[in-house]
Amino acid sequence: MKNGNLKIAVQKSGRLSEKSLELIEESGIKLTQEGKLKLISVGQNFPVELLFLRDDDIPQYVADKVADIGIVGENEVMEQDKPVDIADRLGFAKCRLSLAIPQDIKYNGLTFFIGKKIATSYPVILEKFLKEKKINAEIHEISGSVEIAPSIGLADAIFDIVSSGSTLISNRLKEVEIVTRSEAVIISNREMTSEKKQILEKLLFRVHSVLNAKNNKYILLNAPNGNLDKIIQLLPGMKSPTIMPLAEKGWSSLHSVVNENDFWQIIEKLKEYGAQGILVIPIEKMIV
Ligand code: ATP
Ligand code: MG
Repeated sequence: MKNGNLKIAVQKSGRLSEKSLELIEESGIKLTQEGKLKLISVGQNFPVELLFLRDDDIPQYVADKVADIGIVGENEVMEQDKPVDIADRLGFAKCRLSLAIPQDIKYNGLTFFIGKKIATSYPVILEKFLKEKKINAEIHEISGSVEIAPSIGLADAIFDIVSSGSTLISNRLKEVEIVTRSEAVIISNREMTSEKKQILEKLLFRVHSVLNAKNNKYILLNAPNGNLDKIIQLLPGMKSPTIMPLAEKGWSSLHSVVNENDFWQIIEKLKEYGAQGILVIPIEKMIV
């Protein structure tokens, strides 16, 4: 297997697959062989090779150098507890790992769980948490459909992934403790050759420019000169906003970049300050 390509483990099919591939493609990497039976795919214009695996196997494969890096949920990294590094956080597949109990049962704090039976697919994370909190409970490991465990009498509580909470509600459960949070991350082997480290650096640079672009929008607007100062305060841009006079006297055109998180708040203020003709444009790549 003499080959200088950076091997990237991605989930074969599941919640991470599409976004993982999208990120790699948006990083400008063209891949060979798409299709249902994919096992391996090779970068045509960048030295990478994708291995499609079950997400549970990714931390082990990266620790064993079968793959150099992997894209996987942080929850899986914590649960497997393998010797790998987190090279980057990717901001998708965000969820939390929480304890939940039946809706109609009163909850009075963590001591509730003493002597209780908790069903989970994440026994390692749960055990660590319970130990830290000095709670003695029974962990019942099951591999799927954890949320039905209380209603069939298998457990008193569950510890599972929650995102919107709708699965809990439809199973008449309530979230009572958030134990930890998770998102997709890039994990890396700890003993990469310098050649592979260089490829990883280049890849991370591209990934950052894609993620930054997704988190920001380019904004153009017309503003009355009298309120320019206030508007500039709102729109710091990458350095400062670009301002150009309009043909109409007393008005300027202003260009800047805004973060998605602050976006609506800023738009409201801009309108208050008399901004008109506001255009918001997606950014494809953003290099800071
Ligand atoms: P595999 O067949 O590869 O083992 P899986 O069934 O174990 O897949 P998925 O359900 O595809 O896993 O979830 C993959 C990852 O996506 C999880 O480990 C978690 O990080 C994240 N995830 C799971 N459920 C949600 C959710 N509801 N919202 C957001 N992210 C989630
Ligand atoms: Mg899995």
